[in-house]
Amino acid sequence: MIAVVKQNVEEEQLQNLIDWLQTQNVAVHISRGENHTVLGLVGDTSHIDMELLENLDIVERVTRISEPFKNANRKFHPRDTVVDVSGVKIGGGNFAIIAGPCSVESREQIVEVARRVKASGASLLRGGAFKPRTSPYDFQGLKAEGLELLKIAKEETGMPIVTEIMSASHLPLFEDVDLIQVGARNMQNFELLKELGKIKKPILLKRGLASTMKEWLMSAEYIMAGGNEQIILCERGIRTFETYTRNTLDLSAVPMLKELSHLPVIVDPSHAGGLSRLVKPMSMAAVAAGTDGLMIEVHNDPSRALCDGAQSLTPEQFDDVAKAVSRVQEALNA
Ligand code: PEP
Ligand code: MN
Repeated sequence: MIAVVKQNVEEEQLQNLIDWLQTQNVAVHISRGENHTVLGLVGDTSHIDMELLENLDIVERVTRISEPFKNANRKFHPRDTVVDVSGVKIGGGNFAIIAGPCSVESREQIVEVARRVKASGASLLRGGAFKPRTSPYDFQGLKAEGLELLKIAKEETGMPIVTEIMSASHLPLFEDVDLIQVGARNMQNFELLKELGKIKKPILLKRGLASTMKEWLMSAEYIMAGGNEQIILCERGIRTFETYTRNTLDLSAVPMLKELSHLPVIVDPSHAGGLSRLVKPMSMAAVAAGTDGLMIEVHNDPSRALCDGAQSLTPEQFDDVAKAVSRVQEALNA
Protein backbone atom coordinates (compact mmCIF):
# COMPACT_ATOMS: atom_id res chain seq x y z
CA MET A 1 0.00 0.00 0.00
CA ILE A 2 1.23 3.51 -0.64
CA ALA A 3 0.07 6.73 0.96
CA VAL A 4 0.84 10.03 -0.72
CA VAL A 5 1.14 12.79 1.88
CA LYS A 6 -0.21 16.28 1.10
CA GLN A 7 2.19 19.11 0.36
CA ASN A 8 3.48 21.35 3.16
CA VAL A 9 2.60 18.98 5.98
CA GLU A 10 4.43 19.64 9.22
CA GLU A 11 7.16 17.22 10.15
CA GLU A 12 5.51 16.44 13.49
CA GLN A 13 2.22 15.47 11.85
CA LEU A 14 4.09 13.28 9.38
CA GLN A 15 6.02 11.62 12.19
CA ASN A 16 2.80 10.96 14.12
CA LEU A 17 1.35 9.25 11.07
CA ILE A 18 4.47 7.13 10.59
CA ASP A 19 4.47 6.17 14.28
CA TRP A 20 0.85 5.14 14.08
CA LEU A 21 1.45 3.07 10.93
CA GLN A 22 4.34 1.32 12.61
CA THR A 23 2.09 0.28 15.46
CA GLN A 24 -0.01 -1.47 12.80
CA ASN A 25 2.90 -3.84 12.23
CA VAL A 26 3.96 -2.57 8.84
CA ALA A 27 7.36 -1.20 7.91
CA VAL A 28 7.19 2.33 6.51
CA HIS A 29 9.45 3.21 3.61
CA ILE A 30 9.66 7.00 3.23
CA SER A 31 10.41 8.57 -0.12
CA ARG A 32 10.72 12.37 -0.07
CA GLY A 33 10.28 13.91 -3.50
CA GLU A 34 10.40 17.58 -4.44
CA ASN A 35 6.65 18.02 -4.13
CA HIS A 36 5.35 15.00 -2.31
CA THR A 37 6.32 12.55 0.37
CA VAL A 38 5.32 9.00 -0.43
CA LEU A 39 4.97 6.41 2.33
CA GLY A 40 5.39 2.81 1.23
CA LEU A 41 3.79 0.38 3.65
CA VAL A 42 5.59 -2.93 3.54
CA GLY A 43 4.29 -6.09 5.17
CA ASP A 44 0.78 -7.35 5.74
CA THR A 45 -1.39 -4.32 4.99
CA SER A 46 -4.64 -6.29 4.73
CA HIS A 47 -5.75 -5.12 8.20
CA ILE A 48 -5.13 -1.42 7.49
CA ASP A 49 -8.31 0.55 6.98
CA MET A 50 -7.74 2.25 3.67
CA GLU A 51 -10.67 4.68 3.95
CA LEU A 52 -9.62 5.76 7.40
CA LEU A 53 -6.11 6.47 6.19
CA GLU A 54 -7.34 8.34 3.14
CA ASN A 55 -9.61 10.52 5.26
CA LEU A 56 -6.78 11.80 7.41
CA ASP A 57 -6.14 15.52 6.87
CA ILE A 58 -2.55 15.09 5.84
CA VAL A 59 -3.08 12.25 3.39
CA GLU A 60 -3.80 13.01 -0.24
CA ARG A 61 -4.41 9.52 -1.58
CA VAL A 62 -3.89 5.85 -0.79
CA THR A 63 -3.34 3.08 -3.32
CA ARG A 64 -3.14 -0.65 -2.80
CA ILE A 65 -0.29 -2.26 -4.64
CA SER A 66 -0.95 -5.68 -5.98
CA GLU A 67 2.65 -6.51 -6.85
CA PRO A 68 4.43 -8.50 -4.14
CA PHE A 69 7.66 -6.52 -4.52
CA LYS A 70 7.65 -3.37 -2.48
CA ASN A 71 11.16 -2.01 -2.06
CA ALA A 72 11.94 -2.57 -5.73
CA ASN A 73 8.63 -1.07 -6.83
CA ARG A 74 8.68 2.22 -8.71
CA LYS A 75 5.39 3.23 -7.10
CA PHE A 76 7.15 3.50 -3.73
CA HIS A 77 10.19 5.13 -5.12
CA PRO A 78 9.34 7.09 -8.26
CA ARG A 79 12.85 8.31 -8.98
CA ASP A 80 15.45 6.13 -10.71
CA THR A 81 18.00 4.59 -8.39
CA VAL A 82 21.56 5.46 -9.34
CA VAL A 83 24.03 2.80 -8.25
CA ASP A 84 27.52 4.10 -7.57
CA VAL A 85 30.18 1.45 -8.13
CA SER A 86 33.30 2.99 -6.64
CA GLY A 87 32.68 6.23 -8.56
CA VAL A 88 31.11 4.73 -11.71
CA LYS A 89 27.42 5.58 -11.76
CA ILE A 90 24.78 3.35 -13.37
CA GLY A 91 21.10 4.28 -13.75
CA GLY A 92 19.14 7.52 -13.87
CA GLY A 93 20.69 8.50 -17.19
CA ASN A 94 24.19 7.19 -16.35
CA PHE A 95 25.38 4.53 -18.79
CA ALA A 96 28.35 2.22 -18.25
CA ILE A 97 29.95 -0.75 -19.99
CA ILE A 98 31.30 -3.71 -18.00
CA ALA A 99 33.76 -5.75 -20.07
CA GLY A 100 36.28 -8.51 -19.55
CA PRO A 101 36.76 -12.23 -19.89
CA CYS A 102 34.33 -14.89 -18.77
CA SER A 103 37.04 -16.21 -16.43
CA VAL A 104 40.24 -14.80 -15.05
CA GLU A 105 42.94 -17.11 -16.43
CA SER A 106 46.30 -15.45 -15.73
CA ARG A 107 47.81 -12.14 -14.71
CA GLU A 108 48.86 -11.34 -18.29
CA GLN A 109 45.40 -12.15 -19.65
CA ILE A 110 43.37 -10.08 -17.18
CA VAL A 111 45.71 -7.09 -17.18
CA GLU A 112 45.91 -6.98 -20.96
CA VAL A 113 42.14 -7.32 -21.43
CA ALA A 114 41.58 -4.65 -18.75
CA ARG A 115 43.89 -2.19 -20.51
CA ARG A 116 42.33 -2.82 -23.91
CA VAL A 117 38.68 -2.56 -22.83
CA LYS A 118 39.41 0.54 -20.77
CA ALA A 119 40.99 2.21 -23.82
CA SER A 120 37.82 1.43 -25.79
CA GLY A 121 35.49 2.97 -23.21
CA ALA A 122 34.59 0.26 -20.69
CA SER A 123 34.41 1.61 -17.17
CA LEU A 124 34.19 -1.61 -15.14
CA LEU A 125 36.25 -4.79 -15.46
CA ARG A 126 34.56 -8.20 -15.24
CA GLY A 127 36.19 -11.59 -14.78
CA GLY A 128 34.93 -14.77 -13.16
CA ALA A 129 36.99 -16.32 -10.37
CA PHE A 130 34.36 -18.74 -9.05
CA LYS A 131 32.68 -20.19 -12.14
CA PRO A 132 29.29 -21.92 -12.17
CA ARG A 133 29.86 -24.60 -14.82
CA THR A 134 27.31 -27.12 -16.01
CA SER A 135 29.91 -29.90 -15.84
CA PRO A 136 31.98 -30.52 -12.71
CA TYR A 137 34.84 -31.58 -15.03
CA ASP A 138 35.07 -28.15 -16.71
CA PHE A 139 37.37 -25.35 -15.54
CA GLN A 140 35.92 -24.05 -12.27
CA GLY A 141 37.83 -20.76 -12.13
CA LEU A 142 40.99 -19.73 -10.30
CA LYS A 143 38.92 -18.94 -7.19
CA ALA A 144 40.82 -16.90 -4.55
CA GLU A 145 43.83 -16.57 -6.87
CA GLY A 146 41.51 -15.19 -9.57
CA LEU A 147 40.30 -12.54 -7.16
CA GLU A 148 43.92 -11.57 -6.42
CA LEU A 149 44.60 -11.23 -10.17
CA LEU A 150 41.51 -9.05 -10.58
CA LYS A 151 42.83 -6.81 -7.81
CA ILE A 152 46.13 -6.48 -9.65
CA ALA A 153 44.29 -5.49 -12.84
CA LYS A 154 42.32 -2.95 -10.80
CA GLU A 155 45.52 -1.47 -9.36
CA GLU A 156 47.12 -1.31 -12.79
CA THR A 157 44.18 0.26 -14.62
CA GLY A 158 42.08 1.95 -11.93
CA MET A 159 39.00 0.05 -13.12
CA PRO A 160 36.55 -1.13 -10.45
CA ILE A 161 36.01 -4.91 -10.60
CA VAL A 162 32.92 -7.09 -11.00
CA THR A 163 32.94 -10.79 -10.20
CA GLU A 164 30.51 -13.55 -9.33
CA ILE A 165 29.89 -14.96 -5.86
CA MET A 166 28.62 -18.53 -5.59
CA SER A 167 28.51 -18.97 -1.82
CA ALA A 168 27.98 -16.60 1.09
CA SER A 169 30.87 -18.35 2.84
CA HIS A 170 33.20 -16.69 0.28
CA LEU A 171 32.13 -13.17 1.26
CA PRO A 172 35.31 -12.39 3.27
CA LEU A 173 37.29 -12.89 0.03
CA PHE A 174 35.15 -10.25 -1.74
CA GLU A 175 36.23 -7.26 0.41
CA ASP A 176 37.95 -5.52 -2.51
CA VAL A 177 35.37 -6.43 -5.14
CA ASP A 178 33.45 -3.32 -6.20
CA LEU A 179 30.33 -4.95 -7.65
CA ILE A 180 29.31 -8.47 -6.62
CA GLN A 181 27.57 -10.50 -9.31
CA VAL A 182 24.86 -13.04 -8.57
CA GLY A 183 24.74 -15.32 -11.58
CA ALA A 184 21.68 -16.65 -13.36
CA ARG A 185 21.98 -20.00 -11.60
CA ASN A 186 21.92 -18.40 -8.17
CA MET A 187 19.17 -15.85 -8.75
CA GLN A 188 16.92 -17.81 -6.43
CA ASN A 189 19.55 -18.89 -3.92
CA PHE A 190 17.60 -17.16 -1.18
CA GLU A 191 20.11 -17.77 1.60
CA LEU A 192 22.82 -16.12 -0.52
CA LEU A 193 20.48 -13.21 -1.35
CA LYS A 194 19.70 -12.69 2.34
CA GLU A 195 23.41 -12.50 3.19
CA LEU A 196 23.96 -9.98 0.38
CA GLY A 197 21.16 -7.91 1.88
CA LYS A 198 23.30 -7.40 4.97
CA ILE A 199 26.32 -5.91 3.22
CA LYS A 200 26.94 -2.46 1.86
CA LYS A 201 28.28 -3.34 -1.59
CA PRO A 202 26.34 -2.99 -4.84
CA ILE A 203 24.98 -6.21 -6.33
CA LEU A 204 24.60 -7.16 -10.00
CA LEU A 205 21.62 -9.51 -10.07
CA LYS A 206 21.38 -11.55 -13.27
CA ARG A 207 18.09 -12.95 -14.46
CA GLY A 208 17.57 -16.68 -13.85
CA LEU A 209 17.67 -18.98 -16.88
CA ALA A 210 13.93 -19.55 -16.73
CA SER A 211 12.72 -16.84 -14.40
CA THR A 212 9.88 -14.44 -14.93
CA MET A 213 10.43 -10.73 -14.37
CA LYS A 214 8.31 -10.95 -11.24
CA GLU A 215 10.48 -13.74 -9.78
CA TRP A 216 13.57 -11.69 -10.64
CA LEU A 217 12.18 -8.61 -8.90
CA MET A 218 11.30 -10.76 -5.89
CA SER A 219 14.93 -11.84 -5.73
CA ALA A 220 15.95 -8.17 -5.74
CA GLU A 221 13.39 -7.72 -2.98
CA TYR A 222 15.18 -10.35 -0.86
CA ILE A 223 18.37 -8.29 -1.00
CA MET A 224 16.56 -5.00 -0.43
CA ALA A 225 14.51 -6.35 2.48
CA GLY A 226 17.81 -6.84 4.30
CA GLY A 227 18.73 -3.18 3.79
CA ASN A 228 20.95 -3.26 0.70
CA GLU A 229 19.26 -1.18 -1.99
CA GLN A 230 22.20 -0.92 -4.39
CA ILE A 231 21.08 -3.40 -7.02
CA ILE A 232 21.57 -3.48 -10.77
CA LEU A 233 19.40 -5.94 -12.72
CA CYS A 234 21.02 -7.73 -15.66
CA GLU A 235 19.03 -9.31 -18.49
CA ARG A 236 21.16 -12.15 -19.91
CA GLY A 237 18.69 -14.10 -22.03
CA ILE A 238 16.17 -16.75 -21.03
CA ARG A 239 15.72 -20.32 -22.11
CA THR A 240 13.23 -20.89 -24.89
CA PHE A 241 12.70 -23.58 -27.56
CA GLU A 242 15.20 -21.80 -29.84
CA THR A 243 18.45 -23.67 -30.43
CA TYR A 244 20.42 -21.47 -32.84
CA THR A 245 21.15 -19.10 -29.97
CA ARG A 246 22.35 -20.08 -26.49
CA ASN A 247 19.41 -18.23 -24.90
CA THR A 248 16.80 -15.77 -26.15
CA LEU A 249 17.52 -12.14 -25.32
CA ASP A 250 14.38 -10.69 -23.79
CA LEU A 251 14.83 -7.03 -24.62
CA SER A 252 11.30 -6.24 -23.53
CA ALA A 253 12.60 -6.71 -20.00
CA VAL A 254 14.37 -3.35 -20.24
CA PRO A 255 11.34 -1.06 -20.71
CA MET A 256 9.10 -3.37 -18.66
CA LEU A 257 11.38 -3.41 -15.63
CA LYS A 258 11.94 0.32 -15.84
CA GLU A 259 8.20 0.78 -15.63
CA LEU A 260 7.85 -1.62 -12.69
CA SER A 261 11.00 -0.72 -10.80
CA HIS A 262 13.37 2.16 -10.12
CA LEU A 263 16.44 -0.11 -10.23
CA PRO A 264 18.93 0.22 -13.10
CA VAL A 265 18.69 -2.45 -15.81
CA ILE A 266 21.63 -3.56 -17.93
CA VAL A 267 21.95 -6.15 -20.72
CA ASP A 268 24.47 -8.95 -21.24
CA PRO A 269 24.33 -9.79 -24.97
CA SER A 270 27.20 -12.30 -24.66
CA HIS A 271 25.43 -14.97 -22.59
CA ALA A 272 22.13 -14.16 -24.29
CA GLY A 273 23.16 -15.11 -27.82
CA GLY A 274 26.21 -17.25 -27.07
CA LEU A 275 27.82 -16.11 -30.34
CA SER A 276 30.31 -13.28 -30.73
CA ARG A 277 28.75 -12.06 -34.00
CA LEU A 278 25.45 -11.37 -32.25
CA VAL A 279 27.00 -9.10 -29.63
CA LYS A 280 27.17 -5.96 -31.77
CA PRO A 281 23.58 -5.95 -33.11
CA MET A 282 22.16 -6.94 -29.72
CA SER A 283 24.21 -4.26 -27.91
CA MET A 284 22.92 -1.61 -30.30
CA ALA A 285 19.35 -2.85 -29.87
CA ALA A 286 19.71 -2.89 -26.07
CA VAL A 287 20.87 0.72 -26.09
CA ALA A 288 17.94 1.68 -28.30
CA ALA A 289 15.63 -0.10 -25.82
CA GLY A 290 16.94 2.09 -23.00
CA THR A 291 19.44 -0.09 -21.16
CA ASP A 292 21.53 1.58 -18.44
CA GLY A 293 24.59 -0.41 -19.37
CA LEU A 294 26.06 -3.45 -21.07
CA MET A 295 28.09 -6.39 -19.84
CA ILE A 296 30.24 -7.85 -22.61
CA GLU A 297 32.72 -10.75 -22.58
CA VAL A 298 36.09 -9.89 -24.11
CA HIS A 299 39.11 -12.19 -24.32
CA ASN A 300 42.60 -11.51 -25.68
CA ASP A 301 42.48 -14.86 -27.52
CA PRO A 302 38.88 -16.17 -27.66
CA SER A 303 39.81 -19.39 -29.47
CA ARG A 304 41.89 -20.41 -26.44
CA ALA A 305 39.50 -19.15 -23.73
CA LEU A 306 38.91 -21.61 -20.89
CA CYS A 307 35.25 -20.65 -20.80
CA ASP A 308 32.72 -19.10 -23.23
CA GLY A 309 35.17 -18.50 -26.09
CA ALA A 310 32.46 -18.66 -28.79
CA GLN A 311 30.69 -15.62 -27.39
CA SER A 312 33.81 -13.65 -26.45
CA LEU A 313 34.92 -10.66 -28.50
CA THR A 314 38.52 -9.80 -29.28
CA PRO A 315 39.59 -6.38 -27.97
CA GLU A 316 39.36 -5.07 -31.58
CA GLN A 317 35.80 -6.35 -31.94
CA PHE A 318 34.94 -4.82 -28.57
CA ASP A 319 36.28 -1.48 -29.74
CA ASP A 320 34.00 -1.67 -32.78
CA VAL A 321 30.97 -2.50 -30.58
CA ALA A 322 31.75 0.38 -28.19
CA LYS A 323 31.86 2.78 -31.16
CA ALA A 324 28.59 1.43 -32.57
CA VAL A 325 26.97 1.86 -29.15
CA SER A 326 28.14 5.49 -29.02
CA ARG A 327 26.63 6.10 -32.45
CA VAL A 328 23.26 4.74 -31.28
CA GLN A 329 23.45 6.98 -28.20
CA GLU A 330 24.22 10.00 -30.36
CA ALA A 331 21.29 9.18 -32.63
CA LEU A 332 18.98 8.85 -29.62
CA ASN A 333 20.14 12.18 -28.23
CA ALA A 334 19.92 14.02 -31.54
C1 PEP B 1 28.93 -14.94 -16.38
O1 PEP B 1 28.61 -13.74 -16.34
O2 PEP B 1 30.06 -15.35 -16.64
C2 PEP B 1 27.88 -15.96 -16.16
C3 PEP B 1 28.17 -17.19 -15.72
O3 PEP B 1 26.66 -15.51 -16.50
P1 PEP B 1 25.21 -16.13 -16.24
O4 PEP B 1 25.09 -16.28 -14.75
O5 PEP B 1 24.31 -15.07 -16.80
O6 PEP B 1 25.13 -17.42 -16.98
MN1 MN C 1 30.63 -16.46 -19.32
